[in-house]
Amino acid sequence: MTDSGNVRRIGIMGGTFDPIHNGHLVCAEEARMQFELDEVVFVPSGNPWQKTGVSPAEDRYLLTMLATASNSNFSVSRIEIDREGPTYTVDTLRAFRTFYGEKADLFFITGTDAVAEILSWKDPQAALDEAHFIAASRPSYSLSDAHADLFRGRVSVIEIPALAISSTDIRRRVAEGRTVRYLMPREVREFIEQRGLYRSQT
Ligand code: NAP
Repeated sequence: MTDSGNVRRIGIMGGTFDPIHNGHLVCAEEARMQFELDEVVFVPSGNPWQKTGVSPAEDRYLLTMLATASNSNFSVSRIEIDREGPTYTVDTLRAFRTFYGEKADLFFITGTDAVAEILSWKDPQAALDEAHFIAASRPSYSLSDAHADLFRGRVSVIEIPALAISSTDIRRRVAEGRTVRYLMPREVREFIEQRGLYRSQT
């Protein structure tokens, strides 16, 4: 008799989440269902070193907490917020592996555009070895064949129509005083208003 039934399937939802929106939530839930994940842990990037003008990490962490609180299958990790220095996904995946041991299958969920840039990340090969990657794409967008050999068997693409919503569009809307209602949970919208986030475009 094997104990393979005890292997947990952990989704790790990586993103800057500046801000988190309903597209991210639909994506995490869809990945959970399609890949039969036991849970999805959202991991807001602490110091996304390839970006400038990102909102404070604690704000993005709180927004992510507010957005996910009502789903018992979702949780939020501070691992990248609390780790000093540039945020590297490979470090996060190794930490998850250490925490869960061999009795877990890890699935790293993020946007297709981000996965397409993986060769610019730290130790991309090692990152792909640590977890199966789930690349979420907007409708009619697919991963180019540029890295087909590297990605074969290691990256799955899922199409998420709700990803027509984007953080960039939301930031622009807030700066222009346009509505962001229904694009994100009410609690997230209220926190953005209270904190005055995104009022000036960066
Ligand atoms: P990004 O370049 O801002 O995002 C690329 C695209 O993917 C955007 O359209 C974005 O939409 C979407 N996206 C991002 N996260 C998503 C998610 N979890 N689910 C669905 N769509 C998502 O990417 P990023 O947010 O900075 O980084 C994504 C992940 O890659 C993070 O975990 C980050 O730490 C990791 N990363 C690692 C390295 C490294 O290890 N060296 C380098 C770069 C990125 P929205 O703008 O609407 O979110």
